[in-house]
Amino acid sequence: MLMRSADPIGNPGDDGTGILLGQSVGGAAIHMDQGFVSLPFYAPESLLKGIFVNERGQRFINEDGYHGRTGWHALQQAGERIFLLVDNAAYAPPPEFTRIGIAAAGESWNEVEQELGMPEGSLSATVQSYNRYAAQGCDPAFHKAAKWLKPLDEPPFVALDCRIDYAFYPHFTLGGLDTLPSGQVVNEMREPVPGLFAAGRTACGLPRWGAGYSSGLSLADATFFGRQAGRHAAANALKSPSNTD
Ligand SMILES: Cc1cc2nc3c(=O)[nH]c(=O)nc-3n(C[C@H](O)[C@H](O)[C@H](O)COP(=O)(O)OP(=O)(O)OC[C@H]3O[C@@H](n4cnc5c(N)ncnc54)[C@H](O)[C@@H]3O)c2cc1C
Repeated sequence: MLMRSADPIGNPGDDGTGILLGQSVGGAAIHMDQGFVSLPFYAPESLLKGIFVNERGQRFINEDGYHGRTGWHALQQAGERIFLLVDNAAYAPPPEFTRIGIAAAGESWNEVEQELGMPEGSLSATVQSYNRYAAQGCDPAFHKAAKWLKPLDEPPFVALDCRIDYAFYPHFTLGGLDTLPSGQVVNEMREPVPGLFAAGRTACGLPRWGAGYSSGLSLADATFFGRQAGRHAAANALKSPSNTD
């Protein structure tokens, strides 16, 4: 995962040393390029009626999805610039902590496109197509729910600036030590490393891809597999004091 903004979230002590410790005795670390990336642009909920475009003026996601998917997909776009397009009806100032300002405004989408320095007809064609279907209550490109569909046709029009290197994209990593359901850490041959257990974000558990991450996956994973790891370690320790499996 290539992170360009500076907003890791988590406990100050969580710096990856648990993973390094496991690796130092032969544990394999996997999915180290993956992470959760959010773009918490709502509330205000009226902003969900806007549309996200990349710096080529292309839409890339349904805006009513989980913000952890929006952020991750924003990061996959070419370039640093991401815009949320809204009209006068949908506009409300995003909360200050999001660091989302106004990149361009105009009385027509062509004006906004020009101000953003995009090729003529790029962004305006995206909005035109979106508006045509939104007026019919559907979004064949990304299947946004009808509740959030409204043509962006009330001037003035605004492009909100969600640039990757400035706006608030909180993130944490998802890679970690490779484990069995018992919590035993395995090596690169997927053989258990004797006496080594991991759970939570030191392990690469159920949430291992940013693209499919959803809220709740981390806590459920950490508590369930943490318990499994503890039980397995305790049972093994009781079998024989010298047993280190
Ligand atoms: C703001 C925020 C919101 C989140 N929301 C959700 C959510 O809604 N749903 C969800 O499922 N997940 C959520 N997560 C993710 C989830 O909280 C974490 O993935 C989960 O807490 C990881 O558990 P853990 O036990 O591995 O780590 P932690 O809960 O961070 O616990 C690790 C502990 O070890 C301590 N520690 C670190 N190094 C050392 C050391 N060398 N010696 C001693 N102690 C040390 C740390 O200080 C910390 O107390 C959120 C995370 C954040 C930061």
